[in-house]
Amino acid sequence: MNDAQHTADPGRYNAAVRPPIPTAEALSRTALQALDSADPLAELRQAFRLPDDLIYLNGNSLGPLSHAALARLTQCASDEWGDGLVGSWNHADWVGLPRRVGAQIARLIGAAAAEVIAADSTSINLFKLLWAALQLRPQRRVILTESDNFPTDNYIAAGVAALAGSGYQLRRVSRDQLPAALGPEVAILLLSHVNYRDGYRHDLRALSAAARDSGALSVWDLAHSAGAIKLEIGADGADFAVGCGYKFLNGGPGAPAFAFAAERWHATLQSPLTGWFGHQRPFDFAADFAPAAGIDKLQVGTPGILGLSALDGALAVFSHTEPAALQAKSEELFELCLRLLEQQNLGEELVCITPRESAQRGSQISLRHPAARSLGQALAAAGVIGDFRPPDVLRFGLTPLYTRRVDIFDAVHTLATIMREQRWQRWQQPAYQQDLLVP
Ligand SMILES: *Cc1c(COP(=O)(O)O)cnc(C)c1O
Repeated sequence: MNDAQHTADPGRYNAAVRPPIPTAEALSRTALQALDSADPLAELRQAFRLPDDLIYLNGNSLGPLSHAALARLTQCASDEWGDGLVGSWNHADWVGLPRRVGAQIARLIGAAAAEVIAADSTSINLFKLLWAALQLRPQRRVILTESDNFPTDNYIAAGVAALAGSGYQLRRVSRDQLPAALGPEVAILLLSHVNYRDGYRHDLRALSAAARDSGALSVWDLAHSAGAIKLEIGADGADFAVGCGYKFLNGGPGAPAFAFAAERWHATLQSPLTGWFGHQRPFDFAADFAPAAGIDKLQVGTPGILGLSALDGALAVFSHTEPAALQAKSEELFELCLRLLEQQNLGEELVCITPRESAQRGSQISLRHPAARSLGQALAAAGVIGDFRPPDVLRFGLTPLYTRRVDIFDAVHTLATIMREQRWQRWQQPAYQQDLLVP
């Protein structure tokens, strides 16, 4: 199935019709296979070019290639660039592509189309928004975040504070010190909505409100939630957000990221990177910078059209479903994985550090084990691709668009065999210390 064979009908994949989570008695592969074939989402797996001999549980690191992304990328390269040449800026509306892709992402995160732009990388978008948000709170000098935030976010935030000058600082506190650490000095509350390591999900609505009540602005990183769980960042009161194009959105390695700014900030927000694509009229070649009125002011230079096209195609797959259905499937896969681990008596040896409460987690399961790295290597050698996060976490992305119940079954059974045979030990020999997995 490729994308063209679908008729866009978001109602077709309704969360209400998903099959029930299997009971303990129904954990056989056959029973799960039957649930898979009755699942309306199962059809969307065919939209991806996943190798048959792999169980890919790493789509939260790099999403797989979809037929639609490949087709759109090829069409852009061949027709628009190849045949259309420079005229495609107008005829193929390359100029409008960052906004059109942004509008597709807006639907997935619960924002208005005009509040989201696809551009640059997550790190760069974060830089722009943190700087701009600091200027909106001139009396305050602290960016507050969580110690266990994703590294690049904290590196960028520390860099912004250093650049802003004396008195500015990035303050890192542990998760349980939030929101109490908000106070009169705090300009920005910067958080990843879902933690990359343990999958913990913050209460975006409550923390955005707490930030607002304390006079601070909220900046959210949605890298591990957009495309996997239902988001309503507009209604939930986020001020700003960034997110990643190559994880759950499947836009390809280094895909353009996105930036969200709530409409209420569009008039006053000033990007520190005043490039011509953020100009009111880029093609007037005026002597002085004048910012675009809306979300376009967060653009900087010429957009990467090939990357945006691949992301555009990848996002088309999402038009056949809705975030609530994806979240429901993700929750079911998590429950299933836990039950299978318990059934295989792995529940104690492998400690699940992802919250059991569905509202408190993203779309992954993280298991702690002292030999997690070697276990990950042994799994990869057996065709199950997960991820290792230092020091001792095995992480499996439960990407709801294309992961089947039987994939979870096979992965857990492979893991059980590796544990039983202690097969992971050979990966601890010096010859195997080289990492097979992506860092
Ligand atoms: C993956 C990820 C990023 C990636 O940033 P890049 O600029 O694309 O390298 C940033 N933040 C979080 C929370 C992530 O998970």
